[in-house]
Amino acid sequence: MRVLIIEDEVVLARQLANAATKSGYAVECAEDGEQADFLVNSEQYDAVILDLGLPKIDGLTLLRRWREAGIATPVLVLTARGSWHEKVQGIDGGADDYVSKPFRMEEVMARIRALIRRSSGSAHSEMKCGNLVLDARSSRVSVAGVPVKLTSHEFRVLSYLMHHHQRVVSRTELTEHIYAQDFDRDSNTVEVFITRLRRKLGTPFIETVRGLGYRMSEPSEGSG
Ligand code: CA
Repeated sequence: MRVLIIEDEVVLARQLANAATKSGYAVECAEDGEQADFLVNSEQYDAVILDLGLPKIDGLTLLRRWREAGIATPVLVLTARGSWHEKVQGIDGGADDYVSKPFRMEEVMARIRALIRRSSGSAHSEMKCGNLVLDARSSRVSVAGVPVKLTSHEFRVLSYLMHHHQRVVSRTELTEHIYAQDFDRDSNTVEVFITRLRRKLGTPFIETVRGLGYRMSEPSEGSG
């Protein structure tokens, strides 16, 4: 899962980036409207945190532009303190949710989790595949109640597959959603992550669909 933070206040942007990284997301930041517009149009994000007051192009203009262009990425808007008209404009402009400044980081992260969950059609933050459980709140994974320790990239791969468990996910798509933009991306390493995940999970939860990609599959009784 990959999140873009668009915020021109450097300290706040850094705090948001730290919290999102801790939550297990690949994180990128944009500090003005032009940079944000370029990134949203050229990269794949699972959620965007958008401050409305931005240099070069303001947040509301960006949001309207993206929605008009058919970009459906979930957007959480950050509004100024007590500004009800910003909230209304934001929601009318296509925001999926908003948080007013000042906010608790926990609240922003909970709302981001909910946006990502809803956009993938999951009802709970605890996702299950057989006895495999991924808790998006704590970024923890367990199999049959036993915790499984994953690296951040392994977690992102598994999290993305679990959020999109109803379909096959291609290697390219996975690559686009687990790395930040400045990372040296290589779709071959996805295979490496899958191999390691399979080994750590111990049960064949991740199915390879030849020529297409990967899909979560609930192992049949006795196969684990
Ligand atoms: Ca601002």
